[in-house]
Amino acid sequence: MDIVRPRGTNDFLPKDTVKWHYLETVLRKLCEEFGYGEIRTPLFEDTNLFQRGVGDTTDIVQKEMYTFTDQGDRSLTLRPEGTASVVRAYVEDKLYGEAQPVKVYYMGPMFRYERPQAGRYRQFHQFGVECFGSNHPAADGEIIALAWEFYRRLGLKGLEVSINSVGCPKCRPKYRQLLQDYFRPHLDKMCKSCQERFEKNPLRILDCKNPECKELAKDAPNSTDCLCEECQEHFQSVCAYLTAADIPYKIDHRLVRGLDYYTKTAFEILVDTIGAQSAICGGGRYDGLVAQLGGPETPGVGFAAGLERVLVALDQQGVEIPASSHTQVYLASLGSSADLKAFQLLQELRKTGIIAEKDLLGRSLKAQMKYADKLQADYVLLLGEEELAQNICMVRQMGKSEQAPVDLDNIVLFLKEQLK
Ligand code: AMP
Repeated sequence: MDIVRPRGTNDFLPKDTVKWHYLETVLRKLCEEFGYGEIRTPLFEDTNLFQRGVGDTTDIVQKEMYTFTDQGDRSLTLRPEGTASVVRAYVEDKLYGEAQPVKVYYMGPMFRYERPQAGRYRQFHQFGVECFGSNHPAADGEIIALAWEFYRRLGLKGLEVSINSVGCPKCRPKYRQLLQDYFRPHLDKMCKSCQERFEKNPLRILDCKNPECKELAKDAPNSTDCLCEECQEHFQSVCAYLTAADIPYKIDHRLVRGLDYYTKTAFEILVDTIGAQSAICGGGRYDGLVAQLGGPETPGVGFAAGLERVLVALDQQGVEIPASSHTQVYLASLGSSADLKAFQLLQELRKTGIIAEKDLLGRSLKAQMKYADKLQADYVLLLGEEELAQNICMVRQMGKSEQAPVDLDNIVLFLKEQLK
């Protein structure tokens, strides 16, 4: 075939989607318990939303967006992340008028033009939560606890929370200045992107993957040494909530969110087995973002977690995903009247909620039995012209060689009893 799926995208086949369903079920239950309601926003938005909501100087906006012009000459972009859309909806749908905090979650595909590799795709799936209207550190604590509990329920091991504080518009200018003073003498050794970041966004130099910039960043000043009293207290308090919830964490001074509307808490959850793409969750506080997108001054805190990476980590750690349902009854038939009867019976069984199958290929009885074995059906029903004449079918339980006749008028009831 000469048409293949676009680079960096995946097909999820039924054997894969059972795993996705499992993750989604765990997530929905968890969010219900934590009091977060689901929000669904469009997969594409006005391009300006991401320019303003993610930030003009970020890699996402500069290099990774799938942007197109529609037939009405509007510039639209496939969402590269979820927060900007949720904040837009919070403002547009006036959720600020409701009782606060407003707590929502989302899950679904995101699109970024990145270099595909293991754990990095162009269409990938995120689960995320956002909590609006609270500047209290317990809100930061709650969302980190929610993420932690998700991974705990799945049975993932080797996780670590990294946390930092990037301050607020009051204390960050001092930190920016300190960083610029520190990096200025080394500017010529730094990568081109960092030379640009130096003026616009020096915090993001700390995030650079270039080995030379990384080496320099090691000894750069720490943001936590520059925090104002309020940010300092907030940070200590978030850490205290994590300790109270028995969540181990490590302070990582190199962890940043480079834009002005990101404030105070920045965190990541890392898993030790997954290799280069070890971040499975990232988030933080964005007290300036709602106002930045035209809403009233409203604090917010949230995270996004990559779901492909969770599946990879579960696989690497050998964590079993609970099996999905399997065929309970297989109806094997021989002859056209028996086949018709089997079809009728099939629908009756399904009406009662029994998972049942019959042959759809006109196969021989032997081939049908082989297929029933492959499906690992709990019961096989044999129906030939002779049985039909006596109004019975032969019933065989999986793994047993003997079979017994059951009256066709009683078969549904009989199976319901047996499968209870
Ligand atoms: P971010 O929105 O960049 O903070 O990413 C949040 C999480 O989404 C990361 O920790 C990853 O688990 C996941 N993620 C981000 N980009 C990708 C990608 N291109 N492919 C797969 N997962 C990703």
